[in-house]
Amino acid sequence: MLELKDISFSAPIDDSGEAKAIIKNLNLTIENGKLTVITGPNGGGKSTLAKLIAGIYTADSGQMLLDGEDITALDVTERARRGVSFAFQRPVCFKGFTVRELLDIAAGRTLSTEESKELFSRVGLCMHEYIDREINSTLSGGELKRIEIASVLARNTELNIFDEPEAGIDIWSFGKLIGVFEALREDKTSSQIVISHQRSILEIADEIIVICSGEIVNRGTPEALLPTMFSAESTCPVGKICRA
Ligand code: ADP
Ligand code: MG
Repeated sequence: MLELKDISFSAPIDDSGEAKAIIKNLNLTIENGKLTVITGPNGGGKSTLAKLIAGIYTADSGQMLLDGEDITALDVTERARRGVSFAFQRPVCFKGFTVRELLDIAAGRTLSTEESKELFSRVGLCMHEYIDREINSTLSGGELKRIEIASVLARNTELNIFDEPEAGIDIWSFGKLIGVFEALREDKTSSQIVISHQRSILEIADEIIVICSGEIVNRGTPEALLPTMFSAESTCPVGKICRA
């Protein structure tokens, strides 16, 4: 179980001398084995929250517990060791590495051809075409994104965070990637946090959490939330229109 207690985070002080509050006293509990989808308007704080959970950012105040252990002070490497994986909204290029090397590093061992084939096919890529490619700007955004998702799958960790897996992938191809998340949802030994605006992802969530201006403004099952979520009247309590 992941527990966030009163988590706050402000962006560094800018030229005007003011720190900008991005996450505001956020409380959240995520049960193990669940697929949680976080959604909400652009700039609401979703990526920041994901980076706080992964340990890329450190909260200004509050406490974070993973299966009862206080992980508040742990950095990204220490959290990764405890089974937290993160796929960026904009994937990082690991220049100088091939896709094969990246996946082997993620898995912590040399993957067999069969295992690699399966990983590539799960994310909709042909292994032979990509396995020996260098991870650089010759890969398209969608290809990079799939390779990053494959690297999270290769790690096989207990808590996986995917920040907008649909970003850069056309809607037709993304339809096929849904299978990855459906399969992860059935895997009760790991928990998934997926940040997404895609209805097809929202529909398969165990729970949807709506974040707006750094606060949770709504949460519930897809059945409860989806019928009204995309309507123009859907207004969040902090006064902004929430077109999730
Ligand atoms: P979302 O992922 O929901 O679109 P983000 O978490 O990326 O939102 O950003 C939330 C807000 O915080 C945005 O207004 C963004 O500009 C701001 N922000 C995020 N990181 C920083 C930073 N390092 N410095 C200043 N502002 C930031
Ligand atoms: Mg984001």
